[in-house]
Amino acid sequence: MSEYVNVVEIFGENVFNDAVMQARLPKKVYKELKQTMEEGKELTLEIADVVAHEMKEWAIEKGATHYSHWFQPLTGVTAEKHDAFITAPKPDGKVLMSFSGKELIKGEPDASSFPSGGLRATFEARGYTAWDCTSPAFVRQDAAGATLCIPTAFCSYTGEALDQKTPLLRSMEAINKEALRLIRLFGNTTSKKVTPSVGAEQEYFLVDAAKFMKRKDLIYTGRTLFGAMPPKGQELDDHYFGTIRQKIAGYMKDVNEELWKLGVSSKTQHNEVAPAQHELAPIYAPANIAVDHNQIIMQTLKRVARKHGLKCILHEKPFAGVNGSGKHDNWSLVTDDGINLLEPGKTPHENVQFLLVLSCILKAVDRHADLLRESASDVGNDHRLGANEAPPAIISIYLGEQLEDVVEQLVSTGTADHSLKGGRLMTGVRTLPDLAKDATDRNRTSPFAFTGNKFEFRMVGSQDSVAAPNIVLNTIVAEAFQEACKILENAEDFDVAVHDLIKTNCAEHQRIIFNGNGYSDAWVEEAKRRGLPNIRSMVDAIPALTTEKSIAMFEHFHVFTKTELESRTEVKYETYAKEINVEARAMIDIAAKQIIPAVIKYAKHLADAIISIQTIPGMDVSVETELLKETTKLLRESQTALKTLQEKTEAASLIENNERQARYYHDEVNAAMEALRKPIDQLEMIVDKEMWPMPSYGDLMFEV
Ligand code: ADP
Ligand code: MG
Repeated sequence: MSEYVNVVEIFGENVFNDAVMQARLPKKVYKELKQTMEEGKELTLEIADVVAHEMKEWAIEKGATHYSHWFQPLTGVTAEKHDAFITAPKPDGKVLMSFSGKELIKGEPDASSFPSGGLRATFEARGYTAWDCTSPAFVRQDAAGATLCIPTAFCSYTGEALDQKTPLLRSMEAINKEALRLIRLFGNTTSKKVTPSVGAEQEYFLVDAAKFMKRKDLIYTGRTLFGAMPPKGQELDDHYFGTIRQKIAGYMKDVNEELWKLGVSSKTQHNEVAPAQHELAPIYAPANIAVDHNQIIMQTLKRVARKHGLKCILHEKPFAGVNGSGKHDNWSLVTDDGINLLEPGKTPHENVQFLLVLSCILKAVDRHADLLRESASDVGNDHRLGANEAPPAIISIYLGEQLEDVVEQLVSTGTADHSLKGGRLMTGVRTLPDLAKDATDRNRTSPFAFTGNKFEFRMVGSQDSVAAPNIVLNTIVAEAFQEACKILENAEDFDVAVHDLIKTNCAEHQRIIFNGNGYSDAWVEEAKRRGLPNIRSMVDAIPALTTEKSIAMFEHFHVFTKTELESRTEVKYETYAKEINVEARAMIDIAAKQIIPAVIKYAKHLADAIISIQTIPGMDVSVETELLKETTKLLRESQTALKTLQEKTEAASLIENNERQARYYHDEVNAAMEALRKPIDQLEMIVDKEMWPMPSYGDLMFEV
């Protein structure tokens, strides 16, 4: 048996959290820092110096030799630069360990190589990182020793955001302001703050590290570019929620311990639908911390895999033919005194504040469906959204029977006078307790589902940051709240006005509600009739960022400037083009240098067999001949497709305009890649397994 772990003891042991601050900081300093964290009061350098000193002492006790501003540029992953705590040697040749307030609150990495979408020319490479004191610093232990990581925002010399965190924090301020305004209208005078709470469920695949290293497609692109389906896929549903195998269980145990030490409340783990696919969910936290924690989770999943001889794959679609991976972004609004604005209570029809909040969310999501869709787009996610897999690319909201019924009552009669009840769940077995049933069932196919006291946005890709979706959610809902507050603050009769507003919002935006099967073709037709956008790819989604309505809203709430939105648009097109380019080149490389030579060897092997068998009188070589014919035919097809792919990739690389280039990769290069994959996957089914130059899907998914 493995050694006993005291979870309570290890939880947060590597985090400079509130308990540590209370214990270590002078009272006055602690109080001022708390004010900065909670009320956004400016931090003086004097206070920062004291905090920095204590942070350093604490980190050194944990074995840290370096500190690092840890930030989230527009690459989708985190970035860091490590500095040792040491000062210049003294005359006696010794050094001191030091860390100043200035070093804590501001850093200046040479940031010229991060994507900025034209925001900076390389000769103006200055970028600044600024401490986000609302997300706690932590000490990370790895092969580099121990490092004090300080979560920071990342901006240009002129103050434009170059990262995910800055706009996220801005959007949290926007929703806080408007939500507070809204609850004041309902007589709440005590709550001081409203925070978007986020719980991001993370899906991932685990494969054997040695086999992974034999696949250049996985190494270069994180997904398989070739691969025939094994005899068995996910059709038996025997992996989903199945018993976790010992090797994987040992891995999960290590992941959990690492995460708990870092204060990440890893809570749920299970096998997912596809073979070798798993999921991890933490307990929800304030949006910016949840975003940071999700990055820590992704890094930890990868790092710990190495120790277990495994590779963790976070790509949205590592294997064609089985489910890909996503990330469910659970979102709600919670006050500092614990009131969840999305809690309907037992009788939602009477809960006017809840109905107003809900109707505002309907309005926000309907009006900005394109932005929400865009926020979930990344290159890998194109294989899921709008392809043959869940969730669909059309944004709709699932409310469940109970709430849909309330909305229906409001729209048709102007008042809602009852709420459907959940009742008892009768199992029919006397020894089982009868359970109280939720008033609402679940709908797995909806991209945006109400799940009791939160919304669950299910479109996000597994390797993407959850920052973007939450920036959009916070801002679009802030906008709808603000519009509501403007009307209600000036109303002569509040009760009548709020009633009318809820009804109007519901009536005008009811089209976004869909409780049926989101995977069906009928829904695609129905959504079209309703005028809901069906945006099939990342390249088609990007323009949503810079529409007039998007710019007006983001500027109004000081979340993005027009320039920032334009720069993000450029970064996205560039990223798309670059990633597809890498995939295309990896395919060319693998096909030309590994697969085609292997197929030629196999063809020769067949030809040799035919010749030698024929020397024996009366022998039948029809099977060998048939295989050889089939092989050479597919080889010809492969070679032709390879040439086309080479030409298209070459042509793509010459296009200068980012948008046009991304479109060309999307329309032309993707198609050429598919055309190459097809004959090669057929060849894999023919060629002797011993001669195929890489592990198969079956080897990867079933022999972990
Ligand atoms: P489900 O089964 O609906 O997916 P879970 O209880 O497993 O729900 O929770 C999934 C994720 O949602 C977890 O990360 C959880 O912490 C988070 N979550 C639960 N309640 C809320 C809430 N009120 N706001 C935001 N996230 C929440
Ligand atoms: Mg869920």
